[in-house]
Amino acid sequence: MTDAPATLPPMTLLIAAPRGFCAGVDRAIIIVERAIEKYGAPVYVRHEIVHNKYVVDGLKAKGAIFVESLDQVPDGVPVVFSAHGVPKAVPAKAEQRGLDYLDATCPLVSKVHRQAERQVDAGRHILFIGHKGHPEVIGTFGQVPEGTMSLIETVEDAEAFTPANPDNLAFLTQTTLSVDDTAAIVATLERRFPTISAPKGEDICYATSNRQTAVKAIAAKCDAVYVIGAPNSSNSLRLVEVAEREGTPARLIQRAADIDFDWLANVRTLGLTAGASAPEILVREVVERIGMRFAVVEQQVETAKETIAFKLPRGLETA
Ligand code: SF4
Repeated sequence: MTDAPATLPPMTLLIAAPRGFCAGVDRAIIIVERAIEKYGAPVYVRHEIVHNKYVVDGLKAKGAIFVESLDQVPDGVPVVFSAHGVPKAVPAKAEQRGLDYLDATCPLVSKVHRQAERQVDAGRHILFIGHKGHPEVIGTFGQVPEGTMSLIETVEDAEAFTPANPDNLAFLTQTTLSVDDTAAIVATLERRFPTISAPKGEDICYATSNRQTAVKAIAAKCDAVYVIGAPNSSNSLRLVEVAEREGTPARLIQRAADIDFDWLANVRTLGLTAGASAPEILVREVVERIGMRFAVVEQQVETAKETIAFKLPRGLETA
């Protein structure tokens, strides 16, 4: 027998919108699914296609095999490159081996790759604002010759960087950074190097900035915020930071099983959002689990509408 709702303590859930899947993640998942339909299982995927265990496990069940290196892909089997992008050396090596490969790099990451090439062609040294070790950063560094790009992670790095030629610099950024932190780093670079070349448009993608704006809009009204996402998902981690900066305790959880009900003991308004690689089904799972302990009232708080969709690679449109 379950408790009657009236006996449960009240809980208002403010659910941020936009949240969850972005167009790049959607496209990457469809590419793997269509590749399996077209070629048959198994299809190899280099690196987690997107940073979400639920998604990766779902694709494994359909016949995807995830590996970290091209060396782990047997001859004659198709391979998909993840949404985060890869260094140029990776498709080159796949071609050398005669492998069929499909590139699920998000078009907004590819756009940064092309900008990096153009800046190096123009003879500029690039300061790349990003997080060391993230696959997107490794992929972008791999677009240009060694020594033509330096990583800037913090305002301190921006203050300390000593260029060979301060009048011949450009900056670019990872797509999934904190909008506010990046603005502070860019301001430092532009103060120190007034002639630094900036990207034409914003490199931080629409999905990252929309999700940050949305969580900012709910955080101040909440006692606590849960962000659904993976610990290696850059944009999800940034959502936790944005909520905390509004003065609201925030935590990252992967699934409903991670909910800490002790932490929610004094919470009457809980904010909920999800990183760009977390599917909506996980949001519903969390809402339902909270509904087992609280009389939940859901309110969606929408700060933007997203209508962007990216084309699939040729040959996969109708697999
Ligand atoms: S978060 Fe942005 S850059 Fe990354 S896959 Fe989504 S749309 Fe593309």
